[in-house]
Amino acid sequence: MNLCDIRTVRELLAAFGTGTKKGFGQNFLINAAVPERIAEECCDARDSVIVEVGPGIGCLTAELAKRYKRVIAFEIDKTLMPVLKYTLGSFSNVEVINEDILKVDLPAVLAEKAAGERVSVCANLPYYITTPILMRLVECGAAFESITVMVQAEVAARLTAAPGSADYGAITASLCYYGVPKKLFTVTAGNFMPAPKVDSAVVRIDLYRDKPVKPKSPDLFFKVIRAAFGQRRKTLTNALGTAFPTLNKEQLSDALTSLGFDPRIRGERLSTAEFAALADALLPLLPDSTK
Ligand code: SAM
Repeated sequence: MNLCDIRTVRELLAAFGTGTKKGFGQNFLINAAVPERIAEECCDARDSVIVEVGPGIGCLTAELAKRYKRVIAFEIDKTLMPVLKYTLGSFSNVEVINEDILKVDLPAVLAEKAAGERVSVCANLPYYITTPILMRLVECGAAFESITVMVQAEVAARLTAAPGSADYGAITASLCYYGVPKKLFTVTAGNFMPAPKVDSAVVRIDLYRDKPVKPKSPDLFFKVIRAAFGQRRKTLTNALGTAFPTLNKEQLSDALTSLGFDPRIRGERLSTAEFAALADALLPLLPDSTK
């Protein structure tokens, strides 16, 4: 069965009394070469367990199951469960769990089902919640080796942007704390059913085992990043002044100058490591409640 054949997709959904749901961000792949390539490039170790978010009718799941040790897939749409039972029935190494990825306790599930195994993530993400899912995956504490996601092309550009570029933002600086994001390839809108308005791209993030940037207070580090990009047009001194009202302008410009920055610099020019250094410089100046 070709799970990317558009007629097969339509017939399967109709046969099980369901259809594509916009509310769940369902844009199914209809070109078999795409899930094959994503599965091929998402992970280096074939003995890995792959966590998939949103298997849909299972086209990417099947390609992952062919290549890796096991697949644990989380699908929110319960009407797809019987479809997946049918399409993936021949794979003994696939488990589909009917859960919202934003609500499931991933470390607990993995401790139960994949203790001691190498684990990576692979997903064609629902576009309406790309960033929350991605941030949950990196923040949840599960020891993933890599996370490969298909996202809208403009989001892919943001995830992989260099400091100082127009696409660089809070998500880029935060993500680079956890790992190294790299764009793998573009997938044009015509490869999906229904076709979205924009093209997509696949991004792979290789996660650090030992993070090279170690801010003294990770909470403050993320707060500084959010402050810097929350008011992008302001200088960093002014943006930080709004976010940390107990600090005066002189303290902020002194902190920036001590790190070798012009106090008129904008936050978008700072790398992840520089945000960490800035947060460390502000830490002793702040009351405990804001750290
Ligand atoms: N993997 C399939 C493919 O590539 O054709 C479907 C991808 S489709 C873009 C996104 C999938 O994520 C849908 O199956 C949708 O129901 C599922 N989904 C949406 N929100 C979800 C959530 N919060 N948790 C788990 N799955 C979700």
